[in-house]
Amino acid sequence: MAKPEELVFAPLGGVGEIGMNLSIYGLGNRQQRAWLAIDLGVSFGDEEHLPGIDLIMPDIRFLEKERKNLMGLVLTHAHEDHFGAIIDLWPKLQCKIYATKFSAALFEAKCASERNPPKIPVTVVPSGGRVELGPFTVEFIPVAHSIPESHALAIHTAVGTVLHTGDWKIDPTPLVGPPTDEKRLRELGDAGVIALIGDSTNAVRDGRSPSETEVAQTITELVKAAKGRVAVTTFASNVARIRAVAEAARQSGREVVLVGRAMERVAQVARETGHLDGVQEFRSAEYYGHFPPEKVLALCTGSQGEPRAALARIANDDHPLVTLNKSDTVIFSSRTIPGNEKAVGRIINGLITMGIKVLTDRDALVHVSGHPRRDELRDMISWVRPQLLIPVHGEALHLSEHASLARAAGVPNVMVIKNGDMVRLAPGAPGVIAQVQSGRLYKDGAILEDSKSRAVVERRRLAFAGCAVIALAVTAQGELADDPQIELIGIPPKTRGGDELDDIVYEAIVSTVENLPKARRRDSDAVAEAVRRTARATINEHWGKKTMVAVQVLVV
Ligand SMILES: [Zn+2]
Ligand SMILES: [Zn+2]
Repeated sequence: MAKPEELVFAPLGGVGEIGMNLSIYGLGNRQQRAWLAIDLGVSFGDEEHLPGIDLIMPDIRFLEKERKNLMGLVLTHAHEDHFGAIIDLWPKLQCKIYATKFSAALFEAKCASERNPPKIPVTVVPSGGRVELGPFTVEFIPVAHSIPESHALAIHTAVGTVLHTGDWKIDPTPLVGPPTDEKRLRELGDAGVIALIGDSTNAVRDGRSPSETEVAQTITELVKAAKGRVAVTTFASNVARIRAVAEAARQSGREVVLVGRAMERVAQVARETGHLDGVQEFRSAEYYGHFPPEKVLALCTGSQGEPRAALARIANDDHPLVTLNKSDTVIFSSRTIPGNEKAVGRIINGLITMGIKVLTDRDALVHVSGHPRRDELRDMISWVRPQLLIPVHGEALHLSEHASLARAAGVPNVMVIKNGDMVRLAPGAPGVIAQVQSGRLYKDGAILEDSKSRAVVERRRLAFAGCAVIALAVTAQGELADDPQIELIGIPPKTRGGDELDDIVYEAIVSTVENLPKARRRDSDAVAEAVRRTARATINEHWGKKTMVAVQVLVV
């Protein structure tokens, strides 16, 4: 007799952290399950802890093994933390991808901008539509967020329906696209929802998020009042904000000039998919200088202080086409993501030093988040009335705040879990039943590395304490054939007393080799290890830091 089917859920990224979202749902039993993957995103590395790592991605070894049973990858929306890992990881899965029009078009444009554009097909599903993937029927429910066409997914199965909210907020006037589909969510609640897997990003914030329309009004007032040139920076993918800025420009008799490739790419995709219908044409950056200062508005990338993006280059007076002067205005229509404060601060300080007026969300309502605050989370729970709530998309604090809110709102079961926990959602009492392999991959230049690999750890040590490279030639009898060669990289050349450090290291290693017993001296590995220890100890004694030491022993 066949075992009863169970529905399981496991996050492989995005829980206990913000970024690299990947969730999987499985239907079947322990021997055999059909799988559904939701989103495949990245996190961004930080220079200090992960030097040279630009992107972090979820470990997908589990899905690779289950490739034959993977029915598809469904995208909630086109933010990098939800779709940024596809280009790198899809070749390992080769599964079908499903998304609505805007997400698919933005993905295609992203692929086209790669050096070797990959061919990754995406099946377009209409917003509000459904797709059948093996035993899962996935329904795309429109929600408001900070990018067009964000969707909550209702996953209908033989054992019940789950609501995977994706990123969402409640905004009755979102400027782009329909508001969150309360009616459909209530209908799902009426029919019964076994689990809600929900966005926790703003679970620590009371009240409700302001509407995109209020932000648009503020921006219009600020742009109207501005003398001279105006530059506005925001996330390129925030098409509602692009619309708001365009409207502010129109009302103030200014032309919109797009500065930065990501801004141009998103604007083009948004035009093609109808999200900029009725909005005036934009100009490319070459036209910036053609307009008098009070007739132009530059819409720039670089709100997070990215050093190569438009705003940083403008602030450094390093942009070939776009300049700002004293008494021009820069509006940061954005929030600084934790970790980017220093980079953004440098740009703001640079602009202020140039005499430019800088406006941020501290000064006026020029930005709102795309995630639900506490009253919105309560609304979602009251519409959907889930049997179980699992907070995702947040760090530990956000998850636990979302969980206690859900308990207080009367959700019968609430579970805070970790990446890799496999939860049985139904039938029966929910619980963690297994562990799925999970972890992180680093994009290191063109190479994908396991996060446990030595390269990054070594680079961090190199950055802090340099490296000594030592080469020795020894005879078969174990005598030094020539003077050891020493190179100190990233290490001060002289001690506090003014002595040459490489001379001191030289003396120490020569005497180490000479003091080794004859038999050991013929073993080149033993010589290398002894020299390495001596060099490290000697440098530490004089410098106070434990450097890396590389020793080459050549037997001649
Ligand atoms: Zn998002
Ligand atoms: Zn997100």
